[in-house]
Amino acid sequence: MIDTHCHLDGEEFVEDLEAVIARAKEAGVKAIGVPGIDLKSCDSVIDLCRRYPDFCFPMLGLHPEEVRADWREVLQRIKMSLTSHLSPLTSIPSIGEVGLDFYWSREFEEAQLQAFEEQVRWSVEMRLPLMIHCRKAQNEMVTILKRYKDDLSGGVFHCFTGNAIEAQELLQFDRFVLGIGGVLTFKKSKLPETLAEVVPLERIVLETDAPYMAPVPMRGQRNEPAFVAHVCRKLAEVYGVSEETVDNVTTANARRIFGIVNKS
Ligand SMILES: [Zn+2]
Repeated sequence: MIDTHCHLDGEEFVEDLEAVIARAKEAGVKAIGVPGIDLKSCDSVIDLCRRYPDFCFPMLGLHPEEVRADWREVLQRIKMSLTSHLSPLTSIPSIGEVGLDFYWSREFEEAQLQAFEEQVRWSVEMRLPLMIHCRKAQNEMVTILKRYKDDLSGGVFHCFTGNAIEAQELLQFDRFVLGIGGVLTFKKSKLPETLAEVVPLERIVLETDAPYMAPVPMRGQRNEPAFVAHVCRKLAEVYGVSEETVDNVTTANARRIFGIVNKS
């Protein structure tokens, strides 16, 4: 399994990082994608991925909820980090997590739209995959992505929780997949029906979004990458296939998405 979205650089993991990673490996996790959300976390993501170069892969970007009036300067500095890590000696970064989030506030709506579009352009220019966070903003996000549709390098719509129509709208973007995590296992979630109805397993990657969103039966606890196995198990039930099949297919999907640059 590959946990494609895990905030392993967070302070929640400072005290027992080695044990968390050991448990992930024990559970069958082969790699972990670690997204940055602001300048500070982009630095800590790089440090962490240097410590575990064969296991953790970095994503650098400005999260929509971290967009402030100074977003242009912040993006300039993140772009410098991105380009300096394109050297073949370090693992190749993705761009994330980026996107739009109008759930709590529309205070920086215009800045969020511009910052997101700028980072989408980086993805096109640098041929790097995107890790996209989107809440209460799918129409706006799709409008921006459509401008670059034929040139996008692919990526993940992280923490997908929408309905069938929303899923189909996102799947129109070739080379993009849906990131599925703990929400799938929640009792009231409609996601099992939605996925089975319109989303082929070839368009899904696993994620935890740890330390948040712990799956059942760990709900309410600190989430960690080993718990991705619970998402894998639930997906096997949803698609009526073995856990091994879900593991193989979603791992191949993640390698395809994040390995785009490696192969060229
Ligand atoms: Zn996240």
